[in-house]
Amino acid sequence: MEKFAKPGEFCPNEACPDYGKLQNGQQQNLEKFGKTRKGVQRYRCQTCRKTFTETFGTIFYGKRTPEHEILETLALLAEGNRISTLSRVKGHKEDTILRWLREAAHHAEQLEEVLMAEFRVKRGQLDALWAYVRNKGEKKLP
Ligand SMILES: [Zn+2]
Repeated sequence: MEKFAKPGEFCPNEACPDYGKLQNGQQQNLEKFGKTRKGVQRYRCQTCRKTFTETFGTIFYGKRTPEHEILETLALLAEGNRISTLSRVKGHKEDTILRWLREAAHHAEQLEEVLMAEFRVKRGQLDALWAYVRNKGEKKLP
């Protein structure tokens, strides 16, 4: 299974030939490129010359909600909580949660590892979650 890629481990520019390739012995297109004023590490891709910060390069790039919060919401969904309940408890719109869920399903392999390791979600719960996304006509989780 693919590891959950951390920021700075791959180029997040979809137009780049090295987009999404994890850095290792052979693949070293990223270099550290100073820090932002807030002290966030910045990287530059030597292939496409684009720069980005640690927060860029996660699958949830561009979301205003912190990644941990999104992952926790996904974990709670996997554990069988309803979207309507989570919307009320966590204060996110149901549409927003559904959108995270759909995006997460596209990155299921990357996310499974972190959801299982850090949020103690079980494999079967994740399978049910992705199945739910595929049958998005249904209103509640199994
Ligand atoms: Zn690049």
